Amino acid sequence: MSESNIVAIANQKGGVGKTTTAINLGAALAMAGHRTILIDLDPQGNASTGLGIDSDQREKTVYDLLAGPETLDECALQTSIDNLRIVPATSDLASADVDLAQADNRTKLLRKKLKQAEPGTIILIDCPPALGLLTLNAMVASDAVLVPLQAEFYALEGLSQLLTTVKHVRQSGNSELRINGILLTMSDYRNNLSQQVEADARATLGDLVFPTVIPRNVRVSEAPSHAKPVILYDPSSKGSAAYSQFAKEFAQRLKLVSEEV
Ligand code: ADP
Ligand code: MG
Repeated sequence: MSESNIVAIANQKGGVGKTTTAINLGAALAMAGHRTILIDLDPQGNASTGLGIDSDQREKTVYDLLAGPETLDECALQTSIDNLRIVPATSDLASADVDLAQADNRTKLLRKKLKQAEPGTIILIDCPPALGLLTLNAMVASDAVLVPLQAEFYALEGLSQLLTTVKHVRQSGNSELRINGILLTMSDYRNNLSQQVEADARATLGDLVFPTVIPRNVRVSEAPSHAKPVILYDPSSKGSAAYSQFAKEFAQRLKLVSEEV
């Protein structure tokens, strides 16, 4: 495989585990030896903070990458994890929808820059909780979309809107875009509802749903305040085990496994 693998982690709902998945999947892939870049495309900058990037380090940000002449390499900061870089976000990204509304090729700004990635790089894009210009840029730039779905009652309802957006992007800017999977997150095995949502999702979406389900686990939610992915913060936790297993399934879907040997 010579090209890069670009995956947008998207769901217009907030709080479903996009950022948590971006951090932990990115860390797991990097620790397995894959050159990985995380693009923090949310003005809240939670992925940047969760990986220990202080605000005074965020000199070049994803806003510069989108709107300025800066290259991917100029904007990507090394994290404390080997093989894992991040293009950080700051709150100025919040005005991007408005600032870039008149730009030429405004949905292709990120795509142009991500083409600069060294062949073989995995790029994960942590999308904001909306289907606006930022998420469109992510989808137009991506090979695939990974959808975290919180195991709760309304989970499947928002999905149709997301799938419509993917269809639209396929017709208008990126015919190659595919959905490479749905990841069930924050599942509570003591709760019948979680099990019901999982059963419904598997019945409706079949193999698109990854075999691994991420459990609700307090260590996962504590890890960002220690500026670490859970797989380093508490490797023996259930959350760590689940994200490690998921990263293997994800790599397999990207057909990266053969590269590891
Ligand atoms: P999003 O990026 O979709 O808005 P986040 O990844 O920020 O969602 O997750 C929302 C909140 O839920 C965060 O406080 C996060 O720490 C917490 N969280 C995410 N996944 C888990 C999990 N598996 N177990 C417990 N808490 C989780
Ligand atoms: Mg987020």
